[in-house]
Amino acid sequence: MFKEFIKKIKKYERIGVISHIRPDGDCIGSQVGLSLWLKKNGFDVQAFNDDDVPVNLEWLTHYFPIQEFDLEKIKQCDLVILVDGNALHRFAHSESWTDSIEAPFWMIDHHPDPNDEFDLQISVPGASSTCELIYNLYNEHDIEQLDTDAAKALYTGIITDTGSLQFDSVTPETLEAVADILKRGEFKPNIVAEQVFSTKTEAQYKLLSEALGTIKLYENNQIALMYVTQEMLEKTDTTNSDTEGFVSYPLSIAGVKAAILMKDLAEDGVKMSLRSRSDVDVNQWARELDGGGHKKAAGAWHPGPLEKTIEDVIAIGRKQLNSD
Ligand code: 5GP
Ligand code: MN
Repeated sequence: MFKEFIKKIKKYERIGVISHIRPDGDCIGSQVGLSLWLKKNGFDVQAFNDDDVPVNLEWLTHYFPIQEFDLEKIKQCDLVILVDGNALHRFAHSESWTDSIEAPFWMIDHHPDPNDEFDLQISVPGASSTCELIYNLYNEHDIEQLDTDAAKALYTGIITDTGSLQFDSVTPETLEAVADILKRGEFKPNIVAEQVFSTKTEAQYKLLSEALGTIKLYENNQIALMYVTQEMLEKTDTTNSDTEGFVSYPLSIAGVKAAILMKDLAEDGVKMSLRSRSDVDVNQWARELDGGGHKKAAGAWHPGPLEKTIEDVIAIGRKQLNSD
């Protein structure tokens, strides 16, 4: 998988590693895991992100720092590697961020339908996570380089992208990778899981209780929808990033094939997370709204207002259900 990557990377010196906007555990895990690999192999490496590292993942930046997105610094790199996304526009808020960069762009990712805009791509749709791919990089090159810090970073991305190893993207190879990561990393799973998952605030549960009251079922109870409004955020003193994980509640209702969490961000429109636990392809669903993601987890924006968003999104879902 990484043969060409390992061979071609030797001619570069200064490498920038970037993950996508609104980074999740797989972004930060793969960014830190890859940066540590590059550092171990003598490259001058810097990691950049256009959004802050979520609080529950900040501990990973003690293993390798992630800097504020700085185009001047990125321009100095002779290679830029993008992780956990497959379209250049997903890596920074500015549409034209790549215009002034002369270095080639490489990518390592597991989302379906990659854009044809990379100079080298390791694209494995269906892989559990980008972190599982980075594990393969270590494994194909020199697995002895996988130390505790890198192991914890990769473990974080694998568990966050697989619902703690529950999704159908988890293969025997994923579990073999996890077994080796735990063996070499010499840490217990709860050490990472507690830092990543047991960080909820009381305010987040107040917000969750408001949001649970909005759950509504559509299309013969096959689609479950839940939303969060500005008023709810204000009332509970929370922000829209406090909704992490909420979508799993409507999704776990018996018989539901797909669930949607909508966040009404007023003038910015409505941001939504779509999840499937059936043949319903939420990546296609999101793509109809210019979003994307995976078959089972995707995201998109709609200009709003909320009522109109619900109407449009359910109409697309109805089409999806009927095309089965
Ligand atoms: P989440 O719902 O957790 O924000 O995202 C689920 C999946 O969909 C992730 O793989 C994420 O990268 C992708 N995703 C979320 N929002 C968007 C979006 O607006 N556009 C695209 N292309 N992908 C998205
Ligand atoms: Mn991922």
